[in-house]
Amino acid sequence: MREILDLTARPTVISFAGGLPAPELFDVAGLRAAYDHVLSTAPSRVLQYSTTEGDPGLRAAVAERLSARALPTAVDDLLVTSGSQQALSLTSTALLAPGDTVLVENPTYLAALQCFAFVGARVVPVPSDEGGIDPVALAGLVASERPKLLYAVPNFQNPTGRTLSVERRRAIAEVAARHGLWIVEDDPYGELRFDGAPLPWIASFDGAADRTVLLGSLSKIMSPGMRLGWLRAPAALRQACATVKQTTDLHSSTVDQAAAARYLTDARLDAHLTRVRAAYRERRDALLDGLPHTLPPASTWSRPDGGMFVWVRLPDGHDATALLPRAAAHDVAYVPGAPFFAGRADPATLRLSFTGHSAGTIKEGLTRLAEAFE
Ligand code: PMP
Repeated sequence: MREILDLTARPTVISFAGGLPAPELFDVAGLRAAYDHVLSTAPSRVLQYSTTEGDPGLRAAVAERLSARALPTAVDDLLVTSGSQQALSLTSTALLAPGDTVLVENPTYLAALQCFAFVGARVVPVPSDEGGIDPVALAGLVASERPKLLYAVPNFQNPTGRTLSVERRRAIAEVAARHGLWIVEDDPYGELRFDGAPLPWIASFDGAADRTVLLGSLSKIMSPGMRLGWLRAPAALRQACATVKQTTDLHSSTVDQAAAARYLTDARLDAHLTRVRAAYRERRDALLDGLPHTLPPASTWSRPDGGMFVWVRLPDGHDATALLPRAAAHDVAYVPGAPFFAGRADPATLRLSFTGHSAGTIKEGLTRLAEAFE
């Protein structure tokens, strides 16, 4: 996939392929103020080594955000990680042995599949529909496959933009509690909700709390370059993850954590998120408005309430990977859906990211895509 995307990296290309936050929306002034503050008031602390668990101020600020959304969380329930990608890797290493079975939504986040494959796990896809993981199918697979964990992205999933309903979250929590299944609930997009009310985390349902590892990230809401995320897990697993982290990087960057903590306690994040959500909503709407005139008749697509991605299914017989060079020839790009599937891929699918361009550029990109698909 990296090779295909290299084809589309030319500056003339309007790319819907990347999963990057919009750089013009970064709160440069706010972050500079936060870094300035910590470097002027506590230079010898923030430029020094620090603890594996992470900056207590940052953990307190994250714990407060989680507790405010009905997931009571103490500072010590959290381990700061270098992005949620590291949290995924630590959790896989701490929990999984070669040959263990991991259930995943289908399709799912590509780098999670790579993470599970790397530790020698067997990945089994759970039948999933427009509402995400099907809890009835999940219960059946749990009985037959005896999996160790389920990996789920509950909000505005990558790559589909799908969100699990409250009913499905509850049902998944019940299956986990009944069968002693671990859940890795990966939620980097939840704060990017433009429509509707936030839904409870799977971790907040009775019986699921001590079986669920909740992963969060500052990448999509603050800056991916700061590489900060966190995991919330029961004590024994969290300590195992901290031990693995010690062998990996000792701790995440002290100065970046301190600046992030300052930014959060200054209450800058919510004002920033209001701006980001408004811009992304407009971009999502531009994409959704244009799709009926862009895609071949009988195509279908998701209508996400937030996040960064729309998932498209072209009519039967189309192959999104084979069509990509034609799109590139028209200076437009997307990501074919096939690599996101565990097991048999649906070649007619593709992922469009709506965050990287203004509404006007999105419109132009869709005109090019329509020409490519003609
Ligand atoms: N999980 C999911 C579902 C993602 O889409 C991403 C980033 N694309 C990550 C985890 C990793 O993000 P980060 O390490 O930047 O927090």
